[in-house]
Amino acid sequence: REEKERLGVKDDLKLTLNAVKVLEARYLLKDEEGKIIETPDQMFRRVANHVGVIDALYDYANFQKKGTVREDGKKISNLLNTQIEVLERGFNELVNDGVLKGTFGQFMDFIYTKPTIAEDTIEKFHKMMKSLEYVPNSPTMMNAGARLGQLSACFVLPVGDSIEEIFEAVKQTAEIHKSGGGTGFSFSRLRNKDDIVGSTKGVASGPVSFMKIFDTTTEVIKQGGKRRGANMGILRYDHPDIMEFITSKDSENTILKNFNISVGMEDEFFEKLDSDGYVDLKNPKTGKVVSRIKARTMWDSIITHAWKTADPGLIFLDEINRANPVKNIADIEATNPCGEQPLMPYESCNLGSINLAKFVKEDNTIDWDRLRETVHMSTRFLDNVVDANNFPVRQIKEMTRKTRKIGLGIMGFADMLIMLGVPYDSEEALKIAENVMSFLDLESHKESQNLAIERGVFPGWYGSEYEKEDILMRNSTTTTIAPTGTISIIAGCSSSIEPLFAIAFMRHVLNGQELIEVNPLFEEIMKKRNLYSEKLMQDVATTGNLSKIDLPEDLKRLFKTAHEIDPEWHVLMQATFQKYCDSGVSKTINLPNDATPEDIGKAYRLAKDLHCKGITVYRDRSKTEQVLYSGTSG
Ligand code: ADP
Repeated sequence: REEKERLGVKDDLKLTLNAVKVLEARYLLKDEEGKIIETPDQMFRRVANHVGVIDALYDYANFQKKGTVREDGKKISNLLNTQIEVLERGFNELVNDGVLKGTFGQFMDFIYTKPTIAEDTIEKFHKMMKSLEYVPNSPTMMNAGARLGQLSACFVLPVGDSIEEIFEAVKQTAEIHKSGGGTGFSFSRLRNKDDIVGSTKGVASGPVSFMKIFDTTTEVIKQGGKRRGANMGILRYDHPDIMEFITSKDSENTILKNFNISVGMEDEFFEKLDSDGYVDLKNPKTGKVVSRIKARTMWDSIITHAWKTADPGLIFLDEINRANPVKNIADIEATNPCGEQPLMPYESCNLGSINLAKFVKEDNTIDWDRLRETVHMSTRFLDNVVDANNFPVRQIKEMTRKTRKIGLGIMGFADMLIMLGVPYDSEEALKIAENVMSFLDLESHKESQNLAIERGVFPGWYGSEYEKEDILMRNSTTTTIAPTGTISIIAGCSSSIEPLFAIAFMRHVLNGQELIEVNPLFEEIMKKRNLYSEKLMQDVATTGNLSKIDLPEDLKRLFKTAHEIDPEWHVLMQATFQKYCDSGVSKTINLPNDATPEDIGKAYRLAKDLHCKGITVYRDRSKTEQVLYSGTSG
């Protein structure tokens, strides 16, 4: 408590110390002098006000169309300036889209005199956030009702093969990073190194050299002092510069520090790999074959480098495009930085995650009814964010409003399993994953269909796969499993669908601070079973896991950490969630330090065969800097 008071954050929600520290450093609004001017509860209210008030716009649209008002609603008595701003921007966009007509003044008359559900929605949004049952992605919490108003975490920008287009993309990247978003790019259109440049008859320097410019831009633009941006760079497996790309993060002076990189794979590569064939490397401009390389040689290089540096990962372009519901608009070539969100060029997506730990009942069963309600409310929340968002680039606004992609996911999955007494690496856990994710996907689709009836289908629906199947949808996708790196700290739960990283660990956060914590579920269960002692907690904290600790076998099994779990189970878990997820699944396949490149090859191949959309591995201590260390002796 003292520590919290020292931070000057009035904690009205019984948050963990780590949560308070993170909120203080990056989320709570500050005045000119840097003094915090809101409590965590007020932060959630700010977000709820900003996002929930959008409901009034659609009540007005229905009033204009049908002349009806919400009998179950109430009159808005008072609006904050920030709410008026977001309504005005949203109103103008909807007039542009042909959904609304008239003037903003007429709309304001309407909401002050007629009932709408906006206030009710705001209350519900506020309640589910302050109870930490649902938390939106970081930019929404940082920027809703604040100066920037940019609410999305994920963007993909096109990079064309000309100096103008490349530097246009660099500029747009800067805009996005300034507002807290992350960017992904396919560099596959850029002509290969040493190809002739028409205007000067010189030679091109190739994709990797241009990636360095994006990297430096990211390095320089710190997001309002809050965090540095992040990028995903993708190059197709048949680009002539692919081998340079695969080895690009290997350099002594760690170039491309702000990039995750992935090879864009197609099914053809794996056919070549299996038949020991060659891949033709083609000039992206002319399509002419420049050279060829044995698929096996490329594969070996990929897995050796992933073993050494964790990069490159893979993304499976065919799998992604088979699932693309709006093939009529464009193919997907890239994902956001952490890989979970495939997007078309200029698309963005806003994410939010439900904390499953809050949905286990006293009798150790899942509270499906309450979960359903929360899935519906959070789907509505994310749809509102598309209208509340202040997009940093015009083309992004247009594309995102056309497809209205949203990404509802989960966190606290490992906590839920522990509460249910089920080990992560078990068939039963896969079954629970299947039940939870199919439920989430189904219910969020249902809500998107409800919203389509209330508000209309997403504009790109015409010609989409949904139209062919005659399914009304408000959003072209609704589910994504994000890493929840920071929001899970705020919610005080295990991140995403990952197993516990450690039972006790030291967390590195911004400014070189270190936070030590013991998993609260472990502490609780130890106390319940009369096994708790200070000494035990200290012992656990030095190694991070229970492998060498003298405790009953069932507990050691239940509390297995990420590195103790066989990589195959990690991939199986990812694939199980992927089956019921519209977009991608963020998952780190953790391997112990003594894993071999072949182990990595096996995991990569399994991910492909199980229809994952991409894969990233992390071998313990294979990078010099890592965000989390297992055990305080780290
Ligand atoms: P959070 O917990 O902060 O909401 P996640 O860890 O779930 O974020 O990451 C979700 C997405 O947010 C990432 O895939 C990426 O697109 C974006 N993102 C995360 N961290 C950063 C960062 N430092 N800079 C820019 N974008 C980021």
